[in-house]
Amino acid sequence: MKTVTILGVTGSIGQSALRFLRLHRDTFSLEHISVGCSADEALKIAAEFKCKSIGVADETCDIEVPADVKLYRGAEALCAQAAQNVDVVLGAVSGSQGLPAILAAIKAGNRVALANKESLVCGGPALLALARDKGVPIIPVDSEHSAMFQCLLAGKREDVHSIILTASGGPFREHSLAQLKTASAEASLNHPNWSMGPKNSLDSATLANKGLELIETCYFFDIAPEDVTVVVHPTSIFHSAVQYRDGSMIAQLGETDMAGAIGYGLSYPERLPTGLKPLDLTALGGLHFYPYDPARFPAVDLARRAINIGQPATLMFNAANEVAGKAFLEGRIGFLDIAKTIEIALDKAGDKFTAGLDDIVDADIAAKAWCAALIK
Ligand code: MG
Repeated sequence: MKTVTILGVTGSIGQSALRFLRLHRDTFSLEHISVGCSADEALKIAAEFKCKSIGVADETCDIEVPADVKLYRGAEALCAQAAQNVDVVLGAVSGSQGLPAILAAIKAGNRVALANKESLVCGGPALLALARDKGVPIIPVDSEHSAMFQCLLAGKREDVHSIILTASGGPFREHSLAQLKTASAEASLNHPNWSMGPKNSLDSATLANKGLELIETCYFFDIAPEDVTVVVHPTSIFHSAVQYRDGSMIAQLGETDMAGAIGYGLSYPERLPTGLKPLDLTALGGLHFYPYDPARFPAVDLARRAINIGQPATLMFNAANEVAGKAFLEGRIGFLDIAKTIEIALDKAGDKFTAGLDDIVDADIAAKAWCAALIK
C-alpha cells in the first residue's frame, strides 16, 4: 500500500486526485488531507478514505472531527501534517501560500508530487537543492511539466537542444489589444479547455500562467530561458516536448485532462490507469501550433526577464501577479494592468526581496505588500 497526503484536497487538482485514488483503492491509502475552510467536504472525504488526519488552514473555521481523526489547524500545523511520513505528498494548494507545507514535506523526506508551481517559482533552485540533499524526488504535476519529465526520460540531459512549452492561449487568444483592455473578470475565468480554479484560469487568460510555467521549466530542468520555446497549441492535446540535438523531438500527448499528470505523479515510475481514453488520432484530424504574441501577452517575456535576474525576481513575478490578479478580479484595475504591474515590480524591485530558504515566506509577504502599495 502506498500512503498519500493531499494538501488542498477540495481544489480541482485535489478532486481529480480523489477520482484517481478511487480507481486504485488496493494500491493507495489516503492518510492525510488539508483544506482551506471546507469543513463538511473534508469530513466527507476523510470518512470515505478513512483518513488519519484533516488539516484546516483557516484557524477560524468551525470543524469537529471524529475521535479517530487528528485535527491540524493553522499554517504551522499544516506543516506538521505535511511532515507526517507517507510515500507521496500531493502539493495542490494554489498560490505561494502552499510553500511552507511543501518545504516541510521535503524536510521530512517525503516524495512530493508538485502541482503548486508557485512554491517552486518562489523557492527557486534552493527548494530543489534541499530536495536533492534530502534525496527526495519531486515529480511535476503540471500537465506541461509532467510531459517534459516524461520526454526527458528518452535521452541524456546533455543531448537536449531545447524544450517546447505549449500554451492553449486561454480564453482571449484571439482578442485584440483594445478588447483585452476592457476584458471582464467573468470572461477571463472561462477557460476553453481546462477546468481549473479561479487563479489558474485568470493566469491562463493573461498567459502569466505560461510565465510561471516557463520559470518552473527553467528551475525544474535546469535549462536557460532562451532554450525554452513557448508555442500556442489551442487544443492542449500535445502537452509539451523535448527537442534533442540529433533532430528528434519527443512529445507527450493525451486527453485534455489533468488526470494524466496527477496519476503519473502519484504512481511514477509506474503507469496506472487514470480513466483517460486512448487518443484517437484520426478523430483529432490535426494539431495546430502558433507563435504567441508578446505585444498582447507580455507576461511570458517578463518571466524570461525575471529568470535572468534570479530567484528574487521570480518571487516578485509571482507576488505581483497574485496581487494584481486579485485586484483585477475585484474590479480595481484593468486586465492589461496585471502585466503592467509585473513589469513595474520587476523594474523597480526585481532584486529587492532576496531570501534564503527559511525566509522565503517572509520575502513573499514583503514583496506582496510592496505590490499592493504600488497598485494603491
Ligand atoms: Mg500547466
